[in-house]
Amino acid sequence: MRNVPNQLREAFRSAGRRLTPQRMLILQVLQESDRHLDAEAVHDRVRQRDPEISLATVYRTLALLKEMGLVNAPSLGAERSRYESAGSTPHYHFTCLNCGRVMEFDSPLIGQLSDELSQAHGVSVVGTQLHVVGYCASCVAQMGGESETSRQ
Ligand SMILES: [Zn+2]
Ligand SMILES: [Zn+2]
Repeated sequence: MRNVPNQLREAFRSAGRRLTPQRMLILQVLQESDRHLDAEAVHDRVRQRDPEISLATVYRTLALLKEMGLVNAPSLGAERSRYESAGSTPHYHFTCLNCGRVMEFDSPLIGQLSDELSQAHGVSVVGTQLHVVGYCASCVAQMGGESETSRQ
């Protein structure tokens, strides 16, 4: 295996797991991809490089990587879990309730919120999960710009 970061080796060693080529490959696919792949999409991509890998292996590996904190499965309101590399820069998600499209965004407000919390309550913030839901611009346009709340 080429260029395996020491950090990664160490993470597997301390978890008492083996860093197999298949596990490495699945991690790589997540790191290289445009995020939020479900297990089947991961499988499709992994299979192009190692046709031997089964979907079951992909599921098991994703669960392991998630348990080890190397992979996130942000709750995006989809039926199937979607995964992204935990190494990607912190960001937040907006999911369209109509078409299921996921947008990523970042905002300095989140950092400010963490600062305010630690100052006001003495807490130490180590992570933030924010999932915003609504309708994306093209769905809003399709709906004729009508507000959803007025129909409920
Ligand atoms: Zn939409
Ligand atoms: Zn994301």
